Amino acid sequence: MAAAVNLLDFDAAGLQAYFAGLGEKPFRARQVLRWMHRFGQNDFAAMSDIAGSLREKLRTVAGIAPPPIVSDRLADDDTRKFVFDVGGGNAVEAVFIPENGRGTLCVSTQAGCALDCAFCSTGRQGFNRNLTAAEIIGQLWQVNRALGAAPAERMVSNVVLMGMGEPLANFENLVTALRLMLDDNAYGLSRRRVTVSTSGLAPMIDRLRDECPVALAVSLHAPDDALRDELAPINRKYPLRELMAACRRYLERAPRDFVTFEYVMLDGVNDSEDHARRLLRLTGDVPCKFNLIPFNPFPGSPFRRSSPPRLRRFAEILMNAGIVTTTRKTRGGDIDAACGQLAGQVRDKTRRSGRPEIAVHEVRSL
Ligand code: SAH
Ligand code: SF4
Repeated sequence: MAAAVNLLDFDAAGLQAYFAGLGEKPFRARQVLRWMHRFGQNDFAAMSDIAGSLREKLRTVAGIAPPPIVSDRLADDDTRKFVFDVGGGNAVEAVFIPENGRGTLCVSTQAGCALDCAFCSTGRQGFNRNLTAAEIIGQLWQVNRALGAAPAERMVSNVVLMGMGEPLANFENLVTALRLMLDDNAYGLSRRRVTVSTSGLAPMIDRLRDECPVALAVSLHAPDDALRDELAPINRKYPLRELMAACRRYLERAPRDFVTFEYVMLDGVNDSEDHARRLLRLTGDVPCKFNLIPFNPFPGSPFRRSSPPRLRRFAEILMNAGIVTTTRKTRGGDIDAACGQLAGQVRDKTRRSGRPEIAVHEVRSL
């Protein structure tokens, strides 16, 4: 019988409350949290410092159930893509990117996405559902275990919420998972090593600042509302003025922080010298870095990737203005783990046709 309660759905406070309901003390919850997340244990029987009676009780009322891995592939460049079955014909993916002594895991937050950005295949595919907190943190749980990392030397040193979906549209579950990432009894990552990427849900940026201020990346893609309205329709609801104001507020309390602006380079659409200069005016008073993403085409997409000289010129203009600007490498291409490649079969419940489509989505290194 499936367990009624999945303990991966709880952060520390949630687990304590659940344990209180079972008549158990907070330190017991802390012990179980450490077993689950620090030591990657999902078998109550192996939790040797927990009383036998409590282990037995937990076994009957609860479980520790991450989403199962259905595919695990290694690319020539050591990028490793994991696909998870989240039920109902939905698959999501996480990608592990080892780089210069660090290991970044790109995690999904939704099956599909409702925001429908013009250049994004996840958006094209439509929205299925929010992932639960267990499904979000379960990606990290599973990958740590698959990498065989000893707890003291975790191979995942950074997490980016840049997989499938819009993290801030799944706020409660996102924050539960983020708290676990930061918790010393769980993954113990510093808040600068956890990055939430948003397409620009301005009011939710404020909530993130109030509830769990991790590093923020904002997908900008255009220097003006007219173009951004077309590329990222969420802009019609939260235009650039509001978005930039939310970015400034996000940084108010931590003057050393910065926002990373992501910018997909679309040939002849948003990649001219004039676009770059107007971008500088738009973001002028926001402490920021730029991350330029070469567009990854997918079947039926109307855009092309900017040519390398065009991309270089664009980057040069930003850098000459003193802004740290990086260009994202496309990695894992030979196993479909690069931006805009296959994620899994996902049934689209939001489109009228109702026919199954292939879910394609984004993974990348920063
Ligand atoms: N929904 C969030 C996070 C997931 S998308 C967001 O939009 O920020 C992560 C990044 O991949 C975003 O910056 C997005 O603009 C980018 N992206 C989407 N489709 C792409 C494509 N076809 N090629 C390259 N980057 C893409
Ligand atoms: Fe959703 Fe981000 Fe894709 Fe836009 S770019 S459709 S917000 S996943």
